[in-house]
Amino acid sequence: MEKYTISAISCKSELDGECYCYCGLPSPRRTSWTWLNPGRRFHGCSRYREGSKCQYFKWVDRKFSDRATEVILELLEGLNQPPPTGRFQG
Ligand SMILES: [Zn+2]
Repeated sequence: MEKYTISAISCKSELDGECYCYCGLPSPRRTSWTWLNPGRRFHGCSRYREGSKCQYFKWVDRKFSDRATEVILELLEGLNQPPPTGRFQG
Protein backbone atom coordinates (compact mmCIF):
# COMPACT_ATOMS: atom_id res chain seq x y z
CA MET A 1 0.00 0.00 0.00
CA GLU A 2 1.10 3.50 -0.66
CA LYS A 3 1.63 5.80 2.22
CA TYR A 4 -0.70 8.75 2.34
CA THR A 5 0.37 12.02 3.79
CA ILE A 6 -1.66 13.00 6.78
CA SER A 7 -2.51 16.63 6.40
CA ALA A 8 -6.27 16.84 6.49
CA ILE A 9 -6.49 16.88 10.24
CA SER A 10 -5.33 19.14 13.00
CA CYS A 11 -5.07 17.15 16.17
CA LYS A 12 -3.47 18.04 19.44
CA SER A 13 -1.10 15.17 18.98
CA GLU A 14 -0.80 13.94 15.44
CA LEU A 15 2.00 11.60 16.42
CA ASP A 16 -0.27 9.59 18.65
CA GLY A 17 -3.14 9.95 16.21
CA GLU A 18 -5.13 11.33 19.09
CA CYS A 19 -7.99 13.69 18.46
CA TYR A 20 -10.59 15.19 20.73
CA CYS A 21 -14.14 15.80 19.65
CA TYR A 22 -16.36 18.68 20.71
CA CYS A 23 -17.34 16.70 23.80
CA GLY A 24 -13.73 16.86 24.91
CA LEU A 25 -13.46 13.08 24.66
CA PRO A 26 -10.68 11.24 22.89
CA SER A 27 -11.83 10.45 19.38
CA PRO A 28 -10.62 7.04 18.22
CA ARG A 29 -9.47 6.54 14.67
CA ARG A 30 -11.90 4.43 12.70
CA THR A 31 -12.12 3.10 9.19
CA SER A 32 -14.98 3.94 6.90
CA TRP A 33 -16.62 1.10 4.98
CA THR A 34 -19.10 3.06 2.93
CA TRP A 35 -19.34 2.59 -0.83
CA LEU A 36 -17.98 6.07 -1.39
CA ASN A 37 -15.02 5.80 0.95
CA PRO A 38 -14.08 2.18 1.67
CA GLY A 39 -10.99 1.79 3.80
CA ARG A 40 -10.62 5.50 4.41
CA ARG A 41 -9.77 6.40 7.99
CA PHE A 42 -11.42 9.13 10.00
CA HIS A 43 -11.90 10.52 13.46
CA GLY A 44 -15.40 10.91 14.79
CA CYS A 45 -17.20 11.46 18.07
CA SER A 46 -16.85 8.37 20.24
CA ARG A 47 -20.41 8.86 21.49
CA TYR A 48 -22.09 9.06 18.11
CA ARG A 49 -23.81 5.72 18.73
CA GLU A 50 -25.42 7.21 21.81
CA GLY A 51 -27.12 9.86 19.75
CA SER A 52 -24.65 12.56 20.59
CA LYS A 53 -25.27 15.91 18.91
CA CYS A 54 -21.56 16.30 18.50
CA GLN A 55 -20.84 16.68 14.79
CA TYR A 56 -17.13 16.09 15.10
CA PHE A 57 -15.76 14.40 12.00
CA LYS A 58 -12.38 14.56 10.32
CA TRP A 59 -10.86 12.44 7.62
CA VAL A 60 -7.39 11.07 8.29
CA ASP A 61 -6.66 9.93 4.75
CA ARG A 62 -7.03 12.02 1.66
CA LYS A 63 -9.70 10.90 -0.72
CA PHE A 64 -8.55 7.82 -2.57
CA SER A 65 -8.42 7.77 -6.32
CA ASP A 66 -11.42 6.28 -8.11
CA ARG A 67 -9.28 3.32 -9.07
CA ALA A 68 -8.17 2.66 -5.50
CA THR A 69 -11.78 2.78 -4.32
CA GLU A 70 -12.78 0.43 -7.12
CA VAL A 71 -10.07 -2.10 -6.19
CA ILE A 72 -10.99 -2.03 -2.50
CA LEU A 73 -14.64 -2.65 -3.33
CA GLU A 74 -13.70 -5.52 -5.64
CA LEU A 75 -11.59 -7.04 -2.88
CA LEU A 76 -14.46 -6.73 -0.43
CA GLU A 77 -16.77 -8.51 -2.84
CA GLY A 78 -14.20 -11.18 -3.52
CA LEU A 79 -14.15 -10.38 -7.23
CA ASN A 80 -10.52 -9.44 -7.36
CA GLN A 81 -8.05 -11.56 -5.42
CA PRO A 82 -4.32 -11.10 -5.14
CA PRO A 83 -2.43 -13.77 -7.07
CA PRO A 84 -2.04 -16.97 -5.04
CA THR A 85 1.59 -17.40 -5.99
CA GLY A 86 4.46 -15.19 -4.93
CA ARG A 87 5.18 -13.71 -1.58
CA PHE A 88 2.23 -11.54 -0.85
CA GLN A 89 2.83 -10.12 2.61
CA GLY A 90 -0.16 -8.09 3.71
ZN1 LIG B 1 -18.22 14.19 20.70
